[in-house]
Amino acid sequence: MKYIDEYRNGAVAQAVAAQIQKEATPARHYRFMEFCGGHTHAIFRYGIETLLPSNVEMVHGPGCPVCVLPIGRVDMAVQLAQKPGVILASYADMLRVPGSGKVSLLTAKARGADVRMVYSTLDALEIARQNPNRQVAFFAIGFETTTPMSASALLQAQAQGLTNFSLFCNHVMTPPAMRAILGIEGVPLDGFVGPSHVSTIIGTRAYRFVPDAFGKPVVISGFEPLDVLQAILMLVRQVNSGRAEVENEFARAVGEEGNVKAQTVIDRVFQVRDRFEWRGLGAIPSSALELRPEWHDWDAERRFDLEPIVASDHPACQCASVLRGQIKPQDCKVFATACTPETPLGSCMVSSEGACAAYYRYGRHQSAG
Ligand code: SF4
Repeated sequence: MKYIDEYRNGAVAQAVAAQIQKEATPARHYRFMEFCGGHTHAIFRYGIETLLPSNVEMVHGPGCPVCVLPIGRVDMAVQLAQKPGVILASYADMLRVPGSGKVSLLTAKARGADVRMVYSTLDALEIARQNPNRQVAFFAIGFETTTPMSASALLQAQAQGLTNFSLFCNHVMTPPAMRAILGIEGVPLDGFVGPSHVSTIIGTRAYRFVPDAFGKPVVISGFEPLDVLQAILMLVRQVNSGRAEVENEFARAVGEEGNVKAQTVIDRVFQVRDRFEWRGLGAIPSSALELRPEWHDWDAERRFDLEPIVASDHPACQCASVLRGQIKPQDCKVFATACTPETPLGSCMVSSEGACAAYYRYGRHQSAG
């Protein structure tokens, strides 16, 4: 297949779904986690769950960078935005995530902070170029997909002498989070639909520990509906035959080694943090990145003396349980009532990749009790 439409062909999708129906053993229950929020949205947007037999259950994972950022880091960004002379630049979703006391970056902006929405790190660099007498801090978040852009922004800033640019680094890594999920008691999983964009950077071999150490299969999948259905079929087949391997459904974009050029750029700028707090998963060792010592001058946390903030989620918010795969969004008591995309209480309702946003957008709130 070469064109997008072919990956959305309804007749082929019905045929793959029929094959899943045929091959899923009625006597057992299959529980697969799609790690990535992009897959969660594809599953609801194309009604994939409705095509699956009732004994094949999809569990939504924590693969949404906005959702997994703990509230304390949002509070630190709000603090940073309020420093005199600072322009804080970030992606749109991040601006709406409520911090402590429901204070988001948008709230800070309404109270006078200079917060600007950008589409890329290049936009943030441009703001720094246009405001040589101001400090521009970029609120960098994301999994391995967006990390190369942050690294390359710093390399460009250095090359162009943009000393008024800095990075508030919140980049996190997928494999340690998968390891943490597999260690959670009471969340049985039979395998993962592996991320697509992340895997283009880190390659398939980054997931080998999942079958090797945990005996679970991983199938890397693209974001189109046929990709996801095919990946589910491949997982069912692995489970049925007692295999646990990393398989690659998304071979048109993902290789074993990943994008070595991007990895080199990341390595020039970042090193692994000892530990990092994740919303819902707690502090996970070696699960995030920080700037290398030679880049400390560009580190917003150091430049502006930001102290770590530990804060609790809104008491009614169950994002943590959603992100751990313990409950579905509509099980949260405030889903679609006190918490909607217009009035989000938690990050999973804000982010375009969040599970709660997916359930809401594709109509699951209509059946929520
Ligand atoms: S419905 Fe809102 S409060 Fe509940 S888990 Fe989802 S985002 Fe969090």
